[in-house]
Amino acid sequence: MNKERNVLVVISGPSGVGKGTIAEILTKKNDNMALSISCTTRFPRNGETDGKEYFFIDRSVFEKEIADGGFLEYSEHFGNYYGTPKKFVMDKLKDFDVLLEIDVNGGLNVKKSFPDAILIMVIPPNLKELEARLIGRHTESDKEIELRMQRIDYELEKKQFYDYTVVNDNLDSAVKKIEEIINKEKTIK
Ligand code: 5GP
Repeated sequence: MNKERNVLVVISGPSGVGKGTIAEILTKKNDNMALSISCTTRFPRNGETDGKEYFFIDRSVFEKEIADGGFLEYSEHFGNYYGTPKKFVMDKLKDFDVLLEIDVNGGLNVKKSFPDAILIMVIPPNLKELEARLIGRHTESDKEIELRMQRIDYELEKKQFYDYTVVNDNLDSAVKKIEEIINKEKTIK
């Protein structure tokens, strides 16, 4: 029998596609999975807590971390920095499969430094539905929604570089498909 390894899994996809919900369900259901917490310089939205959805830090602190090589990858979206804290992820990976919920460029950068990382792109069944979800969650202004819709085409174009694509037409089955991918990858060396 093959020995299992802990895997680093990147889950990306357009804003509003449901990747956050999927990642949350996966980590709640599976004791062996942990979610990485990214750092960001954007302000917390209503209901977000420091150290839960993100570590909310100042731009100057973020820039010092960049200089110190503290991020596995980082990028700037909508005028704010987002980055994956290297030590946090490496420590977690000793005991867990680690999920990173990050954008496509972040995912591709992680793959460069960690070729063993598994890249999974979650895509919507159709774009109209995604727009409805973005508007429905009432967390962004119209201008922000427009910017995010513009970015969707760009993100979807990058799915050719991802290892797997999962359509989120049904939450339960999307979660199940990702569990199957992870379980399969855990036994592949
Ligand atoms: P939001 O502001 O909606 O939470 O996130 C905006 C974008 O930043 C999303 O596409 C999200 O996946 C991405 N993001 C979140 N954390 C990270 C990270 O650590 N690194 C990178 N590159 N992108 C991230």
